[in-house]
Amino acid sequence: MAEAEPNDATPFLPERSSLKALREAAAGCRGCHLWRPATQTVFGEGRKSSRVMLVGEQPGDREDRAGRPFVGPAGRELDRGLEAAGIERRDAYLTNVVKHFKFEERGKRRIHQTPKRFEIDACQPWLEAELDVVKPEALVLLGAVAAKALLGSSFKVTQHRGELLDSDLAPIVSATIHPSAVLRAGDARAERRAELLEDLTLAAQLLTNGVPALRS
Ligand code: SF4
Repeated sequence: MAEAEPNDATPFLPERSSLKALREAAAGCRGCHLWRPATQTVFGEGRKSSRVMLVGEQPGDREDRAGRPFVGPAGRELDRGLEAAGIERRDAYLTNVVKHFKFEERGKRRIHQTPKRFEIDACQPWLEAELDVVKPEALVLLGAVAAKALLGSSFKVTQHRGELLDSDLAPIVSATIHPSAVLRAGDARAERRAELLEDLTLAAQLLTNGVPALRS
């Protein structure tokens, strides 16, 4: 009988939890089956001192080839939003809930596939370790997959985007749409882009003014 695929990244976590150690260890992660067809692990990027952490779903085609998160079209859309909101990308830590690109091949194209819950669960130890090291003041979840992974499967981004959420993950936690949703929006692109900007601006304002100022 064939051996069952593993479904947990925990055995691959390093003893020392620095970002460098985590990144190096994640490069060899075989905690689930997603490493096989992908080019490489795409670990989070940014400084330990980052005040804001942005978490997306998984690397895309460009990210898989480059080995860096948010460097494709969605990354450019995110950069645009961050700049307009006054958040410097170099002051932000960018990562994904799943660190390998999940796709299906159609001819020469590799089409994104949404990760399943067991794949998200397998990969979650890496994100927990990143949160533990960076300890961001603001955590912004980009899209339904990231939001549901960290806030529960009943969480709806459409209902709660742009709200200051009650969570122990960070002092400021909010969710917004994934920048790829802006790119897919067709005629509603300007509307979606404005929503993303509005939500990123809220996170920037909370960082600047502090949570109590907004709650009072
Ligand atoms: S997706 Fe995550 S758990 Fe699966 S092999 Fe890649 S890094 Fe490991």
